[in-house]
Amino acid sequence: MGYSVAPLARLVEQFESLPGIGKKTAQRLAFYVLNLPDDRARAFAQSILEAHEKIHPCKICQNLTDQELCGVCSDAKRDRSTICVVESPKDVLAFEKTKEYNGLYHVLHGLLSPMSGIGPDQIHIKELMSRMGDGTVQEVIMATNPTVEGEATAMYIARLLKPMGVKVTRLAYGIPVGGNLEFADEVTLYRALEGRSEI
Ligand SMILES: [Zn+2]
Repeated sequence: MGYSVAPLARLVEQFESLPGIGKKTAQRLAFYVLNLPDDRARAFAQSILEAHEKIHPCKICQNLTDQELCGVCSDAKRDRSTICVVESPKDVLAFEKTKEYNGLYHVLHGLLSPMSGIGPDQIHIKELMSRMGDGTVQEVIMATNPTVEGEATAMYIARLLKPMGVKVTRLAYGIPVGGNLEFADEVTLYRALEGRSEI
């Protein structure tokens, strides 16, 4: 490996920095991109920039959007009395796929994890509390994954919400403990939602 082409090496490095991509795969992808026609390469680079520039958290629920409010929050037909609290935007997609949930969401963008130094201020708990003010919200469904961090986060938030007179429920887990609801099939997720119980 006596010589290297700097721009190619940088491209390999970029791919290698992505999750789950090793050196070999990074090289393969870099050569693939290198061989793309100019217009495809430009469109690829452009879509990365565009996603970065235009996508931001929804002002209300923190889900990702390119508008001021996300599609769910701005939809007048959604039931505003129920909020489903999830860890990440991917979980919103999973619930929307079931087509059975008609309430709103709140995306925490993480879970409490004392081991990794993630406390209540590092995830969007304050923003959730500020949605309770006017009495519209009757039920908050804690739909974090059934992992240690997911349970701890659900319990922490439930303790904050209870004194506010809001019903707090937890998904019924047909989803295996330690499992990930992002990968649960629609029927499983729907049953988990239907069978939820108060905590
Ligand atoms: Zn929203």
